[in-house]
Amino acid sequence: MKKAVVKAYAKINLILDVLGKRPDGYHEVEMIMQAISLYDRITIKPGNGISITTNHPLIPLDERNLAYQAAEVLIKEYPDIPGVEINIEKNIPMEAGLAGGSTDAAAVLIGMNAMFSLKMDNIELLERGAQLGSDVPFCILGATALAKGRGEIIEEVAQCPKLWVVLVKPNFGVKTKEVYQNLMLSSISSHPDLAGYLDALQVGDVPYLLNKIANVLEYSTFKLYPQVKELKEALKALGAKSLLMSGSGPTIYALFASQEAADTFASDVRKGCTYQVWVAHTLNKEILNERVEIS
Ligand code: ATP
Repeated sequence: MKKAVVKAYAKINLILDVLGKRPDGYHEVEMIMQAISLYDRITIKPGNGISITTNHPLIPLDERNLAYQAAEVLIKEYPDIPGVEINIEKNIPMEAGLAGGSTDAAAVLIGMNAMFSLKMDNIELLERGAQLGSDVPFCILGATALAKGRGEIIEEVAQCPKLWVVLVKPNFGVKTKEVYQNLMLSSISSHPDLAGYLDALQVGDVPYLLNKIANVLEYSTFKLYPQVKELKEALKALGAKSLLMSGSGPTIYALFASQEAADTFASDVRKGCTYQVWVAHTLNKEILNERVEIS
């Protein structure tokens, strides 16, 4: 019997803008999303029904898990599949703004598509992903992409050159819904320059890409959790010039053009705080295309 092992990569937001509130209650967003090398390892084996095991004590093992919901969507559509056993080796922190749940769901769609030879193309996978959550389509497509609507409308853009990312996560999680509910659109004094950023990606202008990252959700999260703002200020004082909160937080990331600069910064951060710190790098399409192994 075949099994699939899928690397479910985390994301950061290079740009996150909120344009307004929609009649359906969601916010209209524009985001440039970027896959990074931190990943959960998802192993899928044929089974009866859907079962989930994991090394993480707090992840739900039932239908509340997005990976479970992804398997359910495909099993309902393809009744010949009797079920799957899914193991989630969790490395991406939860409620961190790094799309940990969404990327696990994307990995299950991609892995089941390959191991059961369902032959769904990207468009079909993106449709199934959008039913599961706004970030799932990006997690399917990677590597650098523009997301619009409530985040589920994905367009490919010029790929980001390889940059190094130091992630620092405070010892608590943040609920995305709470951050959007607390966002006062009138308090956003400056919106990111999306067009400028897309141009910089096009020409690979690394200084611009480092300097112009921007996320308007900082307005909301910093008010709810002043510790996150303090963390960003402390990281700035340690010498990082390119700093941003990812998604709704609370992870703050620092971007660097070289691995050496990222490693040095990460070790300085580790000396001074008890927060979790990871060093990762941005990914390109070729690496994303190799994320599934069937054996
Ligand atoms: P985003 O960046 O998309 O807002 P996040 O990184 O902030 O996401 P997640 O780690 O995806 O947040 O977790 C959010 C919630 O989703 C958690 O409270 C958790 O209970 C639930 N959840 C469901 N499935 C998973 C999963 N496979 N891994 C982690 N959390 C999951």
